[in-house]
Amino acid sequence: MPGTDTIAALSSASGASAVGIIRVSGPQAISIVSSMCTEAQLGESEGFCALPATLELPGAGRVSFDLYVFRAPNSYTTEDVAELHLPGSAVLAEKVLLALAGMGARIAAPGEFTRRAYLGGRIDLIQAEAVSLVISARSSAELAAAERTLEGSLSRGLSVAETRLGDVLAKLEASIDFSDQDIEIVTPEETVREIREAAGIIEAFAQPEPPPARDRLKILLCGRTNVGKSSLFNRLISKERVITSALPGTTRDLVGAVMEIEGTELLLLDSAGQKEADDEVEKLALHAMQSCVKKADAVVLVIEAGKPPMDAELEFFEGIEAPKLLVANKSDLGISLTLPECHVTSCVTGEGVERFKKRLRRLALEEMGRFPDALALSVRQRDALSRSLEALARALAAGGEELIAEDLREAVGAIGEITGETATEEILDRIFEQFCIGK
Ligand code: GDP
Repeated sequence: MPGTDTIAALSSASGASAVGIIRVSGPQAISIVSSMCTEAQLGESEGFCALPATLELPGAGRVSFDLYVFRAPNSYTTEDVAELHLPGSAVLAEKVLLALAGMGARIAAPGEFTRRAYLGGRIDLIQAEAVSLVISARSSAELAAAERTLEGSLSRGLSVAETRLGDVLAKLEASIDFSDQDIEIVTPEETVREIREAAGIIEAFAQPEPPPARDRLKILLCGRTNVGKSSLFNRLISKERVITSALPGTTRDLVGAVMEIEGTELLLLDSAGQKEADDEVEKLALHAMQSCVKKADAVVLVIEAGKPPMDAELEFFEGIEAPKLLVANKSDLGISLTLPECHVTSCVTGEGVERFKKRLRRLALEEMGRFPDALALSVRQRDALSRSLEALARALAAGGEELIAEDLREAVGAIGEITGETATEEILDRIFEQFCIGK
């Protein structure tokens, strides 16, 4: 049984919201909540039910809300759970929590609902940690990685490795016990093979952490004055969700707008705020642009379609290390035959602009999807994975069944800390105290 007492907490985000959800879990959850509510006919319904309810509190008057009841074991915590979906008000939530506490519920500690879900066998420890990673995800790529972990691929992989190592360890231990008898329980080849294969599985998960995933690619539009950067910028962002702002932190002020192309968001940066005149200054301007280029995830150089590109432009384009695209604008004024491979646009007629938008979207997806299968791992999990790999490397280098068995015990123990098999109360405390209250 996960818990002997009944816990309660606000499980929706604190602060302004349309609905404030108070979750109550434990043996008394349903009786406490139903005794607080008027007009809630809970009866003995099995499984899940949702019903309108009302409660009256001093200073809050009569409050109507939706009550969701999940009977054990069909709930997140595997206990009886009642959820009060109240109008979103911090003051009201506090009053309801105080009333619940007055009737015997205890205010939940951080992560306590998820800890009960783990103790009740609803989720394993890896999934419990993934819940925390889902909550703390800062981008949709991080969220997807945490969801892949939550879905169980790490749990499944590690459990295969753990079983294989556990089997070979059991055989080694038996072999050590019967060392005075002339029977071979496990061959050295089998031991090495099993350790190598398990290490391979663990290694695949222990890949270095990918760089922080970005949701919005920063794409810089640059080029000489008058080639049409501002016009292209305006064409690209028209009809899109626009938040225009001057972005500090660059040597030249940039103007940025968030644009969305078929669900993919980009931050388009326009350097056209700077207007220089003669050619020498132009070259310097392109040079000065370098520091902006370094801050961008991808660069678009705009040139004029009717004029052969200047050497300075071509050199500048060559020197860009980030993913880059070349646009030849003002195609309505003619197209020079000496142009390098580029996208042709006209901001006057609109020619090529939609096609170029699609190209930008493809570039963003390519750049953002570079780690499509990444799993979210906590620092603790990475540490345990590397300790288990170190122990397996020692086992492979060790001679003698006893030494190998000792290293294998350590490797299996480290994996067990991740899956929960050998996780101590202290480890559980450390994991769950990182959660927020209500989760
Ligand atoms: P920027 O200095 O690179 O930002 O260039 P602007 O967008 O301010 O454009 C410079 C001039 O070129 C303006 O007079 C625009 O109207 C004009 N222009 C921009 N794009 C086009 C185009 O595709 N065709 C033609 N004919 N004129 C353009």
